[in-house]
Amino acid sequence: MIRENLETIRQNIRQICNACGRDYSEITLIAVSKTKPVSMLKECYEAGVRDFGENKVQEILDKYDQMPSDVRWHMIGHLQRNKVKYIIDKVCMIHSVDSLRLAEEISRQAVKANRIMDILLEINIAQEDSKFGIGLSDAPALVKEVQKLPGVRVKGWMTVAPYVDIPEENRQHFVKMRQLCVDINAQNIDNENINMLSMGMSGDYLVAIEEGATHVRVGTSIFGERNYLI
Ligand SMILES: *Cc1c(COP(=O)(O)O)cnc(C)c1O
Repeated sequence: MIRENLETIRQNIRQICNACGRDYSEITLIAVSKTKPVSMLKECYEAGVRDFGENKVQEILDKYDQMPSDVRWHMIGHLQRNKVKYIIDKVCMIHSVDSLRLAEEISRQAVKANRIMDILLEINIAQEDSKFGIGLSDAPALVKEVQKLPGVRVKGWMTVAPYVDIPEENRQHFVKMRQLCVDINAQNIDNENINMLSMGMSGDYLVAIEEGATHVRVGTSIFGERNYLI
């Protein structure tokens, strides 16, 4: 089933890219494998997936050794500062940086590990109390501070849009994210462009791609519903 689901999703992405004039190769499909067993991740890997998203440090550590070494692990969940050290040499990107203090700790650990960590800054685009992320208006100040830190490279922005039945309802939020990207790059003329946009999940990844997503995080549509009781 996983293979068929992936084929459908890739086909959908290809079609939407054709329709809106984007290149399929610009889009990274991240398989969000939280709560799913390694056997299912392996099936996904066999079908060509190399990018996996997890939201818990412990789960990355558990799965890391059981998966091939060319897997790219994406940390997409809320990250506590005291746990950064456990994943600093294991993940390719941290999508969920939502404070200067967290960025500072990632910087400290990255320098110690002699690497540069790619990070995204998380925006709470719909200002939901239940969500992590900074407000849109705080983004310019935060990116400026984080860019000064050694060992981290700000590559872009991430958001978890509201859960909606009609994906079209989230278009407004994705548009704001893309505009943020454009605005920051306009101010940041000396620096490398900050172009990545991690947005869109099972319900709304096609709308997100139409509005500029470079990374979509898809769980349920690949692996099926999650059962948090097991
Ligand atoms: C779980 C999760 C996803 C995937 O959600 P689905 O609706 O299952 O596709 C994407 N992003 C984040 C941050 C998540 O925690």
